[in-house]
Amino acid sequence: MQKVVPFVDLKSQYQSIQPAINATIQNVLNEAYFVQGRQVGEFERQYADYVGIKHCIGVSNGLDALRIALSALGVGVGDEVIMQANTYIATALAVSAVGATPVFVDCNPDTYMIDTALIEGEITPRTKAIMPVHLTGCAADMEPIMDIAQRHNLWVVEDAAQAHGTFYKDKMCGSIGHAAGFSFYPGKNLGAYGDGGAVTTNDAALAEKIRRIANYGQRVKYEHIEKGVNARLDTIQAAILSVKLPHLQAWNEARAQHAKKYDELLSGVGDLKMQKTPTGSTHTYHVFIIETDQRDALQKHLAYNGVNTIIHYPTPPHRQEAYAELGIPAGRYPHAERLAKRTLSLPMYPELSDAQIVYVADQVKAFFK
Ligand SMILES: *Cc1c(COP(=O)(O)O)cnc(C)c1O
Repeated sequence: MQKVVPFVDLKSQYQSIQPAINATIQNVLNEAYFVQGRQVGEFERQYADYVGIKHCIGVSNGLDALRIALSALGVGVGDEVIMQANTYIATALAVSAVGATPVFVDCNPDTYMIDTALIEGEITPRTKAIMPVHLTGCAADMEPIMDIAQRHNLWVVEDAAQAHGTFYKDKMCGSIGHAAGFSFYPGKNLGAYGDGGAVTTNDAALAEKIRRIANYGQRVKYEHIEKGVNARLDTIQAAILSVKLPHLQAWNEARAQHAKKYDELLSGVGDLKMQKTPTGSTHTYHVFIIETDQRDALQKHLAYNGVNTIIHYPTPPHRQEAYAELGIPAGRYPHAERLAKRTLSLPMYPELSDAQIVYVADQVKAFFK
């Protein structure tokens, strides 16, 4: 029988917590407070405590979390925001959404995090913020980033969409910058059953402003003190997230176990290179990435043998048609562009079995034989 190893398996996770999920959804239906129900505030409190921060504001998705954080910090038209070139398009789109311009810097070729030594070279009088991305489940090197930001009077907005539960030294991602954006897209380490997101911050005034912007710029009902948007977290999604949050640590630990097993089985195979966990960071393995010169052929071979993989990401934002206006030539960010050609993400989710990992590794080994 042909085996199939999916890239993620949201069904098996649902089955493992089905009674609690069904009960909480039923509860929301019974209470019928579908927008801004009490479950939203409850989840916000729980998630703030988990991250180790004072304020959490539930929003509609990760992109909205980032753009509302930028907007609340006053980043707008004519401003520049520095980020790494090898990120998901949403980081750049959040900056564009407030009318500012993303300015890219290359990444470290081994850890894939932003190369902090390149940040100051890109600072101009228009620079307003740095957006480090905690990519793959690792933390960006926040100490030098906060240091640069302080010296140049810049905001730091963490893109923590791939780093639920990741620690940088003794702090959790999302508690280090002036604000942070999380995504609860279903496939993220903490995922809703639809879109969802959150902003975290220690600044009470900023938190209030973010909450206001996400809710029509409304201070009290029908009193609008700025032009906000509708970007609230649904009650049902908040209720689901509250059921899932207590499992997050165990799920992240399971991911780390699977990564260890992949590492053992795959080290020294072919020309494979594995991601290096950055110093000072834990790894929550939102994705497990391997690198090879034969990436496309390996992906085809794995697909043929029932192993689903994804490329994170085949085209960096500066090479997307959407950002043609920036006129950035190919080759400008060599490490990011090399990774786009070489990386492959293997199946990774908490419910993955040892037998599945061995099967995936065997298929990879067979390719390189
Ligand atoms: C998923 C993701 C986002 C966007 O989150 P959505 O909820 O899909 O809008 C932003 N940044 C990164 C790095 C992501 O992985």
